[in-house]
Amino acid sequence: MISNVPSYEDFEKVTKECLIQAFELVFQIYSSYKEYDDENRYEEVPLNEVWEHNKVTLKMSLILLHQGIEAYMKGVIVKNSPYLLLEQKRSDWPTLPDSINKDFNTMFTIAGENLLHTFCAVSSDIIELETIQFIEDIRQTRNKAIHGTSPILSDPSNIIHDILKAYTYFFGKDQWFNDIKTWVQSNPLFGYYDWNFESIQSYKYLDFLDSTIGIKQLKKFVNFNIIGRRYFCPTCLHEVKSKDGNLYSKWAFLHPNKPFSTIVYCINCNFDNEIERSDCNKKNCQGNVIDMDGICLTCGQTQ
Ligand SMILES: [Zn+2]
Ligand SMILES: [Zn+2]
Repeated sequence: MISNVPSYEDFEKVTKECLIQAFELVFQIYSSYKEYDDENRYEEVPLNEVWEHNKVTLKMSLILLHQGIEAYMKGVIVKNSPYLLLEQKRSDWPTLPDSINKDFNTMFTIAGENLLHTFCAVSSDIIELETIQFIEDIRQTRNKAIHGTSPILSDPSNIIHDILKAYTYFFGKDQWFNDIKTWVQSNPLFGYYDWNFESIQSYKYLDFLDSTIGIKQLKKFVNFNIIGRRYFCPTCLHEVKSKDGNLYSKWAFLHPNKPFSTIVYCINCNFDNEIERSDCNKKNCQGNVIDMDGICLTCGQTQ
């Protein structure tokens, strides 16, 4: 008999783990760089030098992305039958009553082209040529990186874009962000300082994406229409100010995006906040979106 036959859920878990860690590796480089808060240092050591130094980490990220894509394809195949993953000749399968027990994980499983062809054969939806090309490009890029010939790794925006593209294709828009937050919050150390304050720190992921792939690309991976004027979120602002910090990130949007809307929705904390429409009293600020504590959500000035 063949024991420990994997399930779709096993592969889904591995897919998400690989993709989240692929993302996290690149994010951590950016995040440590941004921690300095020192203009001189930023001038003397531009970010691209840091990416250049961390090429090997980008390579690890790419390997994880490829691993995640393979795990996803295996999961789809397993939904049909896990035995389609086996490479061995069927006459060698230990399935007859007198055959010895064999752990599925010790058997050879299909990879590369065989995996892709089987995935296409069993998928309930027709797989578009563009998706096949995407999967194939990642495989080849990863092979080049492993063999040391790839010049493509000094710019992190490609890999970040590809990770989000894969995640969104497999699990839908927003899911990457929800799953990253869940992963961060499942850390046993999370919440010791202040649960709410730590929760809204996820805006740093959005800032990172804003500065690497840009808002237009990010739009493809979230449900909410983020092309529009951005405002401070009263909830995020309150949490940061409660710890005497400063918030520079704006991830709240008028909802709906109309001139007389009285709600802003924040894609970071998912809260709706009521606002008033009146002109900000700060010179040169064109803002007219003021929160219920009288803070202009365009410039941050208290009215
Ligand atoms: Zn918020
Ligand atoms: Zn203002």
